[in-house]
Amino acid sequence: MTPPLERVLAQLQGVRRSGDQYLARCPSHDDRSPSLAVREGDGGRVLLHDHAGCTIEAIVAAIGLEVRDLFAPGADAGGRARSSQQPTPQERAAVECVRLRDARRAIATRRMLLTVRAREAGGADDATWNELAALAERETALLAEIAAAEEQT
Ligand SMILES: [Zn+2]
Repeated sequence: MTPPLERVLAQLQGVRRSGDQYLARCPSHDDRSPSLAVREGDGGRVLLHDHAGCTIEAIVAAIGLEVRDLFAPGADAGGRARSSQQPTPQERAAVECVRLRDARRAIATRRMLLTVRAREAGGADDATWNELAALAERETALLAEIAAAEEQT
């Protein structure tokens, strides 16, 4: 796997080293003097700065790359490598959503069963009413939890 910095430099014209960074002609505008500064940041990510003001998106597009090509595989947008053992908050929320929806489905199934039984018995007894009320309360709480988890995904 080619490091992102090498990959980017290979596509640029007029590259020269200047201290701890590289200067190159910006591929996104008609650049006579090297206006584009390139350096390596945390986690191997590539930092680009065009003194003429071209956006990073425009610069990478001009050399046939995408913004995500500026990051080493396995590094997040902050440049920190993260292990697969540590899910992002979004991933955790997605898993939580699935768990909550399952719980809600179980409630719906139970309610259906109670309703069918009550109908067959010609009416719900006190125990059934109490359980249905408890299920409704639990379902309302679950819906709020699901909405909160969905917001984070
Ligand atoms: Zn430019």
